[in-house]
Amino acid sequence: MIEEEFLARKFHYYYSKNFVKEPPNIERREFGFGEFGKKISQRHFAFKNLADFNNFLRDEVPFYASCSPAHYEFPSVPDMQKKHLLGSDLIWEFDSDDFKTPCAEEHTLWKCPKCGLGGKGRLQYCTACGERTVFDEWSCPECLNAVKKQTLQLVEWLQDDFGFGKGLSVNFSGSKGFHVHLRSQEIFSLPQSGRVELLNYLTGFDLNLEALGFLSETGGHYSSIPLNKAKGWQEKLLSKLFSFLQGADALQLHSFSNLREKEASKHLLESRESILQELKNGRLFKFGKKSKQFWQLLLEHFVEGQKLFIDRQTSIDLVKIVRVPETLHGGTGLLAKKIQLEGLKAFDALSETIVFSSNPVKVFAEKTPKFFLKGNWFGPFEQQEIELPEFAAVFLLARKSAKLKARGKGEKDEA
Ligand SMILES: [Zn+2]
Ligand SMILES: [Zn+2]
Repeated sequence: MIEEEFLARKFHYYYSKNFVKEPPNIERREFGFGEFGKKISQRHFAFKNLADFNNFLRDEVPFYASCSPAHYEFPSVPDMQKKHLLGSDLIWEFDSDDFKTPCAEEHTLWKCPKCGLGGKGRLQYCTACGERTVFDEWSCPECLNAVKKQTLQLVEWLQDDFGFGKGLSVNFSGSKGFHVHLRSQEIFSLPQSGRVELLNYLTGFDLNLEALGFLSETGGHYSSIPLNKAKGWQEKLLSKLFSFLQGADALQLHSFSNLREKEASKHLLESRESILQELKNGRLFKFGKKSKQFWQLLLEHFVEGQKLFIDRQTSIDLVKIVRVPETLHGGTGLLAKKIQLEGLKAFDALSETIVFSSNPVKVFAEKTPKFFLKGNWFGPFEQQEIELPEFAAVFLLARKSAKLKARGKGEKDEA
């Protein structure tokens, strides 16, 4: 297939000009590689050092390179038991497909596998034949920003709540999200149960409000935690609760609780100052029969709003392998770029991970939504021949959303 050859040539050129300095402790990890259209087709590779790994990338030009967070004594032995696990990093994956941002309606395409009909949006069943549809998911700056916000929040919690400063590393996944790696001695030998516990904390899973110190009936009020003594989730919930109660009107109180607007005005707005004062001192104001449920609903609302949408499987599955930072993603041609923590907030994933040139390349685009790359919007395209900058052509070809037309005159490999 000429598309595959074209991409392989571009990837080869990139790897011959760039030395990949990831991952650390390379000799202990298992590697897996993928081909055009398949993320992992071979596993159980191992490399003595970064130079060997880079030789492999340059010579074999895999479309995808993944490695284990786990460290093994014998990483290349195919039998997982016989690899002999020494310990493992922790990895958290965020993917824009898991976020229900409104923009997804604009850049998800549905297609009917039976009759071939398709269109924009997340339609579940084909309008012509009723068959279940399949989705072609894309991302845009808006959903990637939502993913980035969660990534930043995770980094902040790992630093502030657990003191994991050193050993934290973030990279773009190469497609629709971010990966956070924690490589530190403290977590290296953390058993599975500890990993699950940490995951539960981060995702607010099964959070027990009473165990945190909220909602027990004591004297004339319900319990809370004094602001200056709150930690972890207690602090997260209290600070949201506090700022909400400072500004909320009756309608907002009504929409997140069991109170009608009138009740909210009567019970809460008129006593706002004393409620806030009580809250500071570690007490939830009691105003009648509905008050326990009121506080419970509000607290649950803030748990919902703050918990992290982490792919549960990745962070506890020791056998899974994930993209090697600083390698190319074979489904986009974008770099799984490592990001300095202080630069994460301003990081523009769909621009800063482009490594290919702007030389014109002619392709025949099949069906694409409008998509964003390197500061510009392209498309939407449908069954048309177009000339695109090389990086955008690579992106569509890697996604299998376009076919290659003839090569441009005088085209050179530049990355
Ligand atoms: Zn159909
Ligand atoms: Zn989007």
